[in-house]
Amino acid sequence: MPTSLLLLLACSLPPQGPPSTPPPSPIPRVVDVGLELSVDFERHRISGSAAVTLVNTADTSISEISLLLNRLLSVTTVRVGGDAPLAVQQAVVAFGDFAKLRVAQAVITLATPLQPAESLTLHVVYGGAIAPYTETGMLYIQDHVDPEFTILRRDAYAFPLPGIPMIAALRAAPQYDFTYRATITAPSTHTVASGGQLVSRSPAGAMTRWVFTSVGSAPYLVVTIARYRMEDRNGVRLYYFPLDSLGAARVAARTQQALTTLERWFGRLPTPPQFALMEIPDGWGSQASLTGGIIQTEATFRDPDRLTELYHELTHLWNPVDLDTPSARWNEGLATFLMYRLADTLDGRELGAEVHRLLARLQDHISANPTTYSTVPFREYGITRKTDLSYRVGGLMFATLYQLLGSARFDRAYRTLFQTYVASGVTLANLRRTFTDQDAEGHLSQFFSDWLDTTQWVGAVREADSIRNLAGHWSGAAPQ
Ligand SMILES: [Zn+2]
Repeated sequence: MPTSLLLLLACSLPPQGPPSTPPPSPIPRVVDVGLELSVDFERHRISGSAAVTLVNTADTSISEISLLLNRLLSVTTVRVGGDAPLAVQQAVVAFGDFAKLRVAQAVITLATPLQPAESLTLHVVYGGAIAPYTETGMLYIQDHVDPEFTILRRDAYAFPLPGIPMIAALRAAPQYDFTYRATITAPSTHTVASGGQLVSRSPAGAMTRWVFTSVGSAPYLVVTIARYRMEDRNGVRLYYFPLDSLGAARVAARTQQALTTLERWFGRLPTPPQFALMEIPDGWGSQASLTGGIIQTEATFRDPDRLTELYHELTHLWNPVDLDTPSARWNEGLATFLMYRLADTLDGRELGAEVHRLLARLQDHISANPTTYSTVPFREYGITRKTDLSYRVGGLMFATLYQLLGSARFDRAYRTLFQTYVASGVTLANLRRTFTDQDAEGHLSQFFSDWLDTTQWVGAVREADSIRNLAGHWSGAAPQ
């Protein structure tokens, strides 16, 4: 049969539904990762193991676990405890809904299915090179094993984690939030950095073995390796490239000043902060988490205007654990506002101008997406997976609150909230009540109802031409 006829036949067939393969096993939740890796710069490879502890959070049992790795990595064996190695089927596959993204998929058949709420630790021996993912359009994933700079992170699948090669499925899977221990052996010419706590550093022949553990749960595990210099000041480890020592001195100083300022505003932390800040080359993607470590591109070290990202993360130290699940992430809004307040205090960047820009940007966003903003109230951003809005909407909400209360009352309210709930954890309802208690004039119940329960705030923001004018909407003052 000529090909053209085949094509013709294919075209005249009715459209196919989704393939009738059985639905994939649920993706278990990662609760702990133990990495033990050795870095070989000459062969541009890593080798070692990952102990991945998983919990079945679904209501059906799991008999197969699919792990994803970088397409140049491969699995040698997988065991559970001291048991015999498990059957592993691996292949390089393309993501079903993102064909440019190719990963190694290792499907493990468990000896006994993992029942709901049960957990197990897979001990995965693996190794190989790491391929960057720039060709997918994710330009920041330039990851590869190189003496100049090496980064090991989930973005380039440098260690095995459960998942299936579908972006949609990964988005719907349980969020990563796990404890970790990373033992990394690298040539002694280099410094290994990671978030959490540096437990030890010991010679191993011509190599050095570095051990890090997370302090609490972390949203990611990142290891960077370079000819870093390191400075430890009051539990804050700063890893920087020797060429940027001037910028590093400023970053170190600003970090301490920001911590002191936040303590003045909101009171002492229960324990002194302990975290790492790692410099990475420009274009490799900054990321920040106090537990996972803060990675910042060279630009932050050279350009003081970029320090706001660092300030943002530092303010999160003054957030009690968020008990709302899923949370509307008001913390992100508060961090967005407070990072500008810190930049005003420490770098002389005028808060008023930044808040005005926040207002203008939100007005633009609302004009571009009127339906989203006017149908989903802030308190439902978690349930509706719209927490990317929490930053700008929450940022402006707290800026307005600050305008209404003034700094003394604002700080007293948040200090009370933090110190009251730091041990127990906090809810959006606690936040609301604590601020409302500080409000003698009684405007705040309407304010929170408009910002959190309904989308009444949208109209006020659209009409406002200044933050004073916006705040006037709730203070009863005449519009300015
Ligand atoms: Zn944040």
